[in-house]
Amino acid sequence: MTARILIVGGGIAGLSAAWGLAKRGFRVELFEQGPLPNPASSSHDEHRIIRHAYGEMQGYAHLIVQAFAVWEQLWQALGRRHYLETGSLNLLRCETPWYEGTRESLAALGIGFHDVPLDRVAAMRPMLNLDGVQRAVETDGAGMLFPVRIVTDLVVLLGRLGVRLHAGAKVTAVDPVRGTVTVGGRVHEGDAVVVAAGAWADRLVPSLKGIGVPSRQAVLYLAPPPDLAEAWATAPVMIDMSQDGDVYCLPPRDGMRLKIGDHVFSRRGNPDEDRIATEADLARLWTAARACYRDLDRYAVLEPKACFYTVTKDERFIVRPLDAKGWLISACSGHGFKFGALMGEGVAAAIAGERDPAGVEAWAAGLE
Ligand SMILES: Cc1cc2nc3c(=O)[nH]c(=O)nc-3n(C[C@H](O)[C@H](O)[C@H](O)COP(=O)(O)OP(=O)(O)OC[C@H]3O[C@@H](n4cnc5c(N)ncnc54)[C@H](O)[C@@H]3O)c2cc1C
Repeated sequence: MTARILIVGGGIAGLSAAWGLAKRGFRVELFEQGPLPNPASSSHDEHRIIRHAYGEMQGYAHLIVQAFAVWEQLWQALGRRHYLETGSLNLLRCETPWYEGTRESLAALGIGFHDVPLDRVAAMRPMLNLDGVQRAVETDGAGMLFPVRIVTDLVVLLGRLGVRLHAGAKVTAVDPVRGTVTVGGRVHEGDAVVVAAGAWADRLVPSLKGIGVPSRQAVLYLAPPPDLAEAWATAPVMIDMSQDGDVYCLPPRDGMRLKIGDHVFSRRGNPDEDRIATEADLARLWTAARACYRDLDRYAVLEPKACFYTVTKDERFIVRPLDAKGWLISACSGHGFKFGALMGEGVAAAIAGERDPAGVEAWAAGLE
């Protein structure tokens, strides 16, 4: 009898694990507490950055090569691509080990990394406030993934592959020793259970409590004024690094809106809360964004949005076996979408016996 695998969570990690397992012939059932896909999940947004530039976390620069390969397999399976290569522009307002770490890892990978004169940046990107910028660096091997399109297509693909999809099915307990999940008082038995529950994961996996902490994050969706529209329409993904933390920006391209967010973790909040950013959520982001972009008051605010992910102390993912029949995938950090498909595939390969389960944790943490 073919093994039956139960998956908790319909974000990029759970959907990708389901895809990896269904491809290998497993019987797969996926339980999602909301709709599929779920707008409250971390994986449901217009765009996410993917890049090789990982500073001192060089393991992730190398792992992203594997991630790109899995995305490529997904585009093949879907018959379309949900990725736009834009390159990245990185503005450094302080000394940071990011520069040397990235230069080294991109050189090893043969990926372009160039210092750009600031007067050239000023001419090409009039929306930027370059006061205090010490260095500008462009890199290749970077761009935008389109998550809503990806997770929607994945849900449809899984249905075609025979995965049993349970929307509105909140899992209240997981038993990784017996391989069971409880939904609405009913116990479902599997040969293995994969918990990919994003910012909610510590409710089902007690060992994650205090280690993977839910963090409410704010982003701003904006419309640039007409005189800057042309400059924005050709912009790459941009990251602005200062002592106060990184501000990132995804340009309005391929039908998506302009989005600005920061990489400073709130480490507070409850993922059941709404997804509308309040003035308090946004105060820090507005200050940081105004330091990076000129004339932000001339932009229309389209949506102040809140989102949740789980952060660990060192920003490394936690993907590991739980007892005899369980797996945890917690790629839910500020950089987990780009790796989500790879993490799901890695766990599927381990369950299928194609890779050593004992090695998965270090691999996923970028420490291999
Ligand atoms: C503002 C913001 C910006 C980001 N930017 C980037 C970026 O530029 N690049 C990048 O790579 N990453 C980025 N990320 C991170 C990335 O989006 C996440 O790491 C990734 O989407 C996490 O996927 P996941 O499947 O682990 O979790 P999720 O997508 O949150 O999915 C978990 C799912 O589990 C379900 N669930 C939870 N509990 C239960 C239960 N008890 N029963 C049933 N279902 C349950 C939830 O409803 C949810 O649908 C960003 C995140 C945010 C919030």
